[in-house]
Amino acid sequence: MRYLSTRGETAALAFDDVLLAGLARDGGLYVPETWPRFSAAEWRALRDRPYHEVAFAVLKPYVGGAIADADLARIAKDAYAAFDHPAVAPLKQLDAALWTMELFHGPTLAFKDYALQLVGRLFDHVLAARGARVTIVGATSGDTGPAGIAAVAGSKRVDIVMLHPRGRTSEVQRRQMTTVLAPNVHNVALDGTFDDCQDAVKAMFGDLEFRDRWNLSAVNSINWARVAAQIVYYAHAALALGAPDRAVSFCVPTGNFGNVLAADAARRMGLPIDRLIVATNRNDIVARTILTGTMALEGVAPTISPSMDIQVSSNFERLVFELAGRDGRATAAMMAEFRKTGKFVFPQGLHAALAEGFDAGACGEDDTLATIASIRKATGETIDPHTAVAVHVARRAKSQGPIVVASTAHPAKFPDAVEKATGVRPRLPGFLADLYDRPERATDMPNDVAKLKEFVAARVGAK
Ligand SMILES: *Cc1c(COP(=O)(O)O)cnc(C)c1O
Repeated sequence: MRYLSTRGETAALAFDDVLLAGLARDGGLYVPETWPRFSAAEWRALRDRPYHEVAFAVLKPYVGGAIADADLARIAKDAYAAFDHPAVAPLKQLDAALWTMELFHGPTLAFKDYALQLVGRLFDHVLAARGARVTIVGATSGDTGPAGIAAVAGSKRVDIVMLHPRGRTSEVQRRQMTTVLAPNVHNVALDGTFDDCQDAVKAMFGDLEFRDRWNLSAVNSINWARVAAQIVYYAHAALALGAPDRAVSFCVPTGNFGNVLAADAARRMGLPIDRLIVATNRNDIVARTILTGTMALEGVAPTISPSMDIQVSSNFERLVFELAGRDGRATAAMMAEFRKTGKFVFPQGLHAALAEGFDAGACGEDDTLATIASIRKATGETIDPHTAVAVHVARRAKSQGPIVVASTAHPAKFPDAVEKATGVRPRLPGFLADLYDRPERATDMPNDVAKLKEFVAARVGAK
């Protein structure tokens, strides 16, 4: 298996190179040259298998021989061994046709652990084989940072520089990053929004000399390996509900479009998925694009589901590439127009294909709180605000058969919103009970790329 850039200007790379590269050198995102497809019999053989075995089977064609099967199997087993539920991603039934898939049983209580615990191990494995080191530079709206840091803290081959927008993550999210005092972890509290953080990271990657000097690498959802690892839980859940002999729908709380893109990949692999429903909070650029065919920038407003407070969904480009018939030049032109004017109108045929593949809806702040309250009243379950956004949208969806909502965070990550909705403050699991007592470490920085580059050079160059 080789990987192409969505902008069509770089040579095809193997999985291990794509893992380390993150963003392609032409500014595009890597996508597999072809989509592997499993037959119904192959899917059926994975039913009732442990999560790590499904992970091995789903990832093997994407890894494409770049990592030996025995190593991949061991890494997959190890990655999920410490998750705090034996099913790893258990399903819970909310009503006759609505389920949640709990993706918060990893070390930092959000779905990003499901990919990053695996990706961190893949990094160590590939870097050890090459005798190399990398500097991971990332931006986080709240949950990528903790999960990325947890995935590589203490690694001798990786430094991680993580930018978060100062004051715009929840306190739990911030502490999950800043209380990790391992010498290879460098937290930056940036004076700006998440999009400023993301732009700064892109600017550092765009400086090829800087990128090569420090072996920059990414764990944002632009990293293909992350998307690949996220395909696993869609397969695992669908199989548990009767796939491939019954179709299920998924509703995914969406920010950067990485998680729902993995569901789309599962569908391209032959998993019978009826509808894919994109749920956003009031920062609804993706929902608007799907519903209207016009992708138009608006400002970002802070919400109680902050991990979806984004203005531009970086992974959307991977879908645009597919819609454009995998034409890199056309994709690059569309993205360039959007970047230049803040707006892109999809030609009618492309919009029709988009709307055919995806449903969408947005959920405001009051409805988010009301949904948390109503689910608790009806079922006794406490859901976090991101999950609530998707439950609200799923309840209004048109699908036949079961809808599975991706429950992307533990409610205790967002205690203020959950307490406001239910009157009860959710508690952190025992292994994080002393989080508020741990010392923090972070560096405040202005939104200034030159200064950020100096910071990276000083921190990593000192080694
Ligand atoms: C990151 C995150 C999202 C958004 O996921 P994308 O892959 O960026 O669309 C939703 N909910 C939670 C809790 C998250 O951490």
